[in-house]
Amino acid sequence: MKIILLGAPGSGKGTLAKKISKDFDIPQISTGDLFRAIVKEDSELASKVREIMQSGGLVPDEVTIEIVKERIAKDDCKKGFILDGFPRTVNQAKALEGISQIDTVILVDLANEIIIDRLSARRTCPNCGEIYSVQDNLENVCKKCNSPLIQRDDDKPETIRHRLEVYEQNTSPLINFYSDRIFKVSSAGSPEETYSPVKTFLSEMEGKVE
Ligand SMILES: [Zn+2]
Repeated sequence: MKIILLGAPGSGKGTLAKKISKDFDIPQISTGDLFRAIVKEDSELASKVREIMQSGGLVPDEVTIEIVKERIAKDDCKKGFILDGFPRTVNQAKALEGISQIDTVILVDLANEIIIDRLSARRTCPNCGEIYSVQDNLENVCKKCNSPLIQRDDDKPETIRHRLEVYEQNTSPLINFYSDRIFKVSSAGSPEETYSPVKTFLSEMEGKVE
């Protein structure tokens, strides 16, 4: 089963990807992880990516597509894969169609106000990186290392609002592009409540795909 996951930052997309990956035994492929892995390799493609990243530039579509193409050709993708963070643009989506036929696109849907509430409640330990929720840590001190907690800039409401706008601008053309294959699920409930309809849907699809 070849799956694309779409969802805003803070929508719970990562948690959902892990559950799917485990139950259906297919790898979760995020382009961020791929970039971090490839720059450690010794190949022409690797030195190209290193150069681009060191110059602070964006990795161009054709390079990203090449990297994804190599990754999904590996043995562990024989049963399928979950793409997370790719494609980001319709151009990338069109190129992906030329490489692999995507079965379904899962859209994790959550109202912006809930995302802002959830993310702006996050507090981070600047020393060890542990993450807490304001409600669960009234002392505002890390339980592991006793450092005072901070709110990261990324978790401030105005920053979150901006990230959500960027996400919407990028994603709505993709939703149109994949309109025949979208499975929309709300993540307003618990992670289990979000996963349950997805699991049912994918289990039914698994029989048809293979
Ligand atoms: Zn800490």
